[in-house]
Amino acid sequence: MRVGIFGGTFDPVHNGHLRAAEEIGESFSLEKVYFVPAYIPPHKNAGNISAMGDRLAMVRLAIKGNRRFSASDAELRRGGISYSIDTIEIMEKRFKDVYYLIGVDAFDEIDTWHRYEDLFYHTNFIVMVRPNHRKKSGLTMFPKNVRKQMTPLNDYSFQHNSGRQVYLQLITQLDISATRIRTSVGSRKSIRYLVPPAVETYIKEKGLYQ
Ligand code: ATP
Repeated sequence: MRVGIFGGTFDPVHNGHLRAAEEIGESFSLEKVYFVPAYIPPHKNAGNISAMGDRLAMVRLAIKGNRRFSASDAELRRGGISYSIDTIEIMEKRFKDVYYLIGVDAFDEIDTWHRYEDLFYHTNFIVMVRPNHRKKSGLTMFPKNVRKQMTPLNDYSFQHNSGRQVYLQLITQLDISATRIRTSVGSRKSIRYLVPPAVETYIKEKGLYQ
């Protein structure tokens, strides 16, 4: 079974995430895309992040009705700092073919991730790129330690020595960020059409980001 893993803080999940996952799911014929909110994201100040329960609830509301999408509470159940490699190793045991969805900005910093070299042995990557956005191209997009293990297959795909692949995939990247949504709510501006209606209602009812 081919599954996607979409990790993130999702504080909150927004239409940018959803549209990207929809396009990738379709293009790569993924049977499932698991949205995996990080319990304690290693790269963000944990003190400023909404409760995991709220972030997970918003993901569940956002994906309702989409049969390809699932929410995973794996990182909540595991507790502690949420390292993607741990989640990937678990998913890899369950499913044969695992594809990790990641924005190009996040991929550019992959060498700051815990055990980043190991990631390439356990998952394929789908790096989501928007048109005209690439700063680095070809093998230069990989950290030095990984570059020597990668073989370009064409302009958009690379094979790691492990047999796992890295794909660059153009998506309609909507210019929406969770940061902007939190700021808008804080200054009492509308977030309509940036998040699904159910997420907007949840944020209002719970008084998040005030
Ligand atoms: P923040 O503004 O709080 O940093 P964010 O909107 O970037 O949050 P995250 O939860 O940190 O959202 O991102 C999870 C993943 O989604 C990352 O791989 C990121 O690159 C990707 N992503 C974020 N925004 C978009 C978007 N508009 N379109 C496609 N992918 C996105």
